[in-house]
Amino acid sequence: VRSADVIVAGGGIIGLSLAFELRKRNLSVLLLERGEPGREASHAAAGMLSPRGGDLPAPLQDLADASAALYPEFVQEVEDSSGIKVDLRRQGAVLLGHGLGVDGRLSAEEQQRLEPRMAIQREACFNQEASVDPRALTAALAKAALHHGVDLATGAEVLKVQTAAKRFEVQTAKATYSAGMVVNCCGAWSGQIGPLRLPTRPVKGQMLSVVSEKKNLLTHVIRGEHVYLVPRSDGRILIGATVEEAGFDKRVDPAVIKHLHQKAGELVPEMATARIHEAWAGLRPSTQDDLPILGATSIANYFVATGHFRNGILLAPVTAKIITSVICDEAPGWAIDSFASSRFLH
Ligand SMILES: Cc1cc2nc3c(=O)[nH]c(=O)nc-3n(C[C@H](O)[C@H](O)[C@H](O)COP(=O)(O)OP(=O)(O)OC[C@H]3O[C@@H](n4cnc5c(N)ncnc54)[C@H](O)[C@@H]3O)c2cc1C
Repeated sequence: VRSADVIVAGGGIIGLSLAFELRKRNLSVLLLERGEPGREASHAAAGMLSPRGGDLPAPLQDLADASAALYPEFVQEVEDSSGIKVDLRRQGAVLLGHGLGVDGRLSAEEQQRLEPRMAIQREACFNQEASVDPRALTAALAKAALHHGVDLATGAEVLKVQTAAKRFEVQTAKATYSAGMVVNCCGAWSGQIGPLRLPTRPVKGQMLSVVSEKKNLLTHVIRGEHVYLVPRSDGRILIGATVEEAGFDKRVDPAVIKHLHQKAGELVPEMATARIHEAWAGLRPSTQDDLPILGATSIANYFVATGHFRNGILLAPVTAKIITSVICDEAPGWAIDSFASSRFLH
């Protein structure tokens, strides 16, 4: 029986960031991932790191601000340990539309100067924020975690978690593992493994990426009312995203993709003719109140970090720090009462 101090179930950005952080405390960590790490919601994400000027639920504001502030150092560490660049871009975003809650409206001239190819918008403002390539980041995290001694088992779907003599037995189809502590980081699937019935649900998001003949079509993230555009340094531009209650269905609907592409063309006319590079869908992990579930549970030494909904890439560094503190029996550093599993489970 392979054993560890901590078993992390689920190798998305949340499980990977946590495994990486736990190793800094010298705990032995076994990460069990059903498929390959970082291939679910974290693979589908746009990678905007936007703590301000969006629809972030108010109780998450402090964590979002803290995590955005942690990001440069987090990226540096992960890039250094993995040798993989994760395309952290800090050019900022242009926010469009009403009620965005960020001061300083951009004049037409300022809009032109910032994004010459964007159609002039009635209401636009600038926000200093960053973005990252989540696919590169999860790949880098997996490599960094291995490098720091995380034991990673892929193709290892957790089927059952049960307590046995003050430890946990974690069963996959191929093996049984043993640990003193377990953390459920299974994203939209967190409710499917015992011993607690976590009420997570999948919220589907479809998006696409385009490549343009013109280099540097966009410099900033553009957050519109119907669609957002996220440029990558390699020339791709991501266009997202739908928010759909569709169960565990991950199919891509060509009509939906066409609609998103059209909306992007209304913001930046040249995007309308840019070639579609890829279209995909992912399942955001959410909960009844759209807030994450973080921390200890009613079962001693069984922890949860899930339900990050639309902000899991942004919230990964702070989540890793919080859960590590809770596991090490330290004050988490941020108020996490609003995210307790007890609000759902009695
Ligand atoms: C279209 C789209 C755009 C998004 N854009 C952004 C954005 O711009 N910024 C942002 O901050 N967030 C964004 N998000 C949200 C973000 O992607 C998620 O909040 C985040 O990826 C959640 O990470 P996770 O590790 O909890 O889940 P996941 O990445 O889904 O990882 C869960 C992992 O658990 C594994 N697993 C499941 N069940 C088991 C099991 N029984 N045993 C073992 N392993 C298991 C899965 O295979 C998976 O690898 C977006 C999401 C989508 C879909």
